[in-house]
Amino acid sequence: MATVYNWQLGREMDYPYEGAWPERQFAFVINTNRCLGCQTCTMACKSTWTFAQGQEHMWWTNVETKPYGGYPRNWDVKLLELLNKANPDGVRWFAPDGNAPEDAPYGEFEGRTIFEAAHDRSARPEASQRVLGYLPTDEEWGTPNLYEDVPSGGGGGRGEWVREGSDVSLPTHKSWFFYLARLCNHCTYPACLAACPRTAIYKRPEDGIVLIDQERCRGYRKCVEACPYKKALYRPTTRTSEKCIGCYPRVEGRDRDTKGARTETRCMSACIGQVRMQGLVRTEQDGIWTPDRQHPLYYLVHVAKVALPLYPQFGTEPNGYYIPPRWVPKPYLEQMFGPGVEHAIQQYLAPGRELLAVLQLFRRDSRMIFRYDIEEGPLVYEGEIHGQPFQLHDDTVIAFGEKGEELFRTTVEEPLHVRPSERINWV
Ligand code: SF4
Ligand code: SF4
Ligand code: SF4
Repeated sequence: MATVYNWQLGREMDYPYEGAWPERQFAFVINTNRCLGCQTCTMACKSTWTFAQGQEHMWWTNVETKPYGGYPRNWDVKLLELLNKANPDGVRWFAPDGNAPEDAPYGEFEGRTIFEAAHDRSARPEASQRVLGYLPTDEEWGTPNLYEDVPSGGGGGRGEWVREGSDVSLPTHKSWFFYLARLCNHCTYPACLAACPRTAIYKRPEDGIVLIDQERCRGYRKCVEACPYKKALYRPTTRTSEKCIGCYPRVEGRDRDTKGARTETRCMSACIGQVRMQGLVRTEQDGIWTPDRQHPLYYLVHVAKVALPLYPQFGTEPNGYYIPPRWVPKPYLEQMFGPGVEHAIQQYLAPGRELLAVLQLFRRDSRMIFRYDIEEGPLVYEGEIHGQPFQLHDDTVIAFGEKGEELFRTTVEEPLHVRPSERINWV
């Protein structure tokens, strides 16, 4: 095992290979507060990449209703149980004193990751030598949307409705569920890649997208077993494994419609709720993001710290980030997104001027945003929100592409258009 630095854990960790970091890294932010579970993203991917024979069960991106939903069924509960067995004393995060350093923004994780626990036979008797994981059964792959829209809370159980649990006052609901949209995280330390005995999986040096070489793959399914997010899948008709390809032709700017401009992926571009943003960020030689204050993803993850990694304790350093849902009990969210939850929710409940402007950038255009700027506008509201003072300015936020060209500009206040009375019935 080599030693690599994982900034989401705030420490070095074991990994089967020496660290190698791409020039740029594919990354995305999903705002769970606004996802409506419409599954348009799911179908956009399905109709583009996985409609062939042998791919029927493949949902490279899916949207599951938490806490009960999961594809494959109970994937995260099973992983957490394995990790719990491998960490009998529990896992803890040590918060930093005072200001958190850039290379350990959530403090330091004390516990074993899926790589460090791989040799622990008590966690799983038949554990792989390289990664702690499990192979889902056919039944678990068979019901991608079981428990959609099923809530929890108020003392009820799965499928039960408890009257006193129906209080829906923000910030925390007694009854709750939320939609978790997922895809491959194109991890900095991919478990799928670590486990592959054929070295058929590779991370592209130009954009960090993780791909499976179909010529080299022999279908041993070690990646399926190892990926903690269960985003590598086996295709019986070709006897190889497949996974999300990060829509790399679009990321490379090869989509016919955008004339060479890098384009966000199918699942991001199609999002009806305007909750997804994807882009490329620069990284340093230890995997830490290069400071880039005006990049919207850098701002959301490293400046506002409003977007958090999914299950950072697994240790793969996923490059998908989530703005956590504000109505869900904190212990549940902290298990899922780590110790940054309280701060992220406070940021989102009473957003500052810049955060409010950056949130307007989501899904105004399919071309990738590399920089934003804000032109200050007038104060349009002043008051209190969730006990905190709040001001709303009608600022204009401007998005720029890779070459510095302006992509679009949009305002914080939605413009109001009033139809003239003689056209009131016009469509
Ligand atoms: S999410 Fe899974 S399949 Fe994707 S890069 Fe990470 S370990 Fe590999
Ligand atoms: S990035 Fe492309 S391939 Fe991956 S889940 Fe989204 S649409 Fe599918
Ligand atoms: S398209 Fe957007 S809003 Fe609809 S389910 Fe997917 S992430 Fe949620």
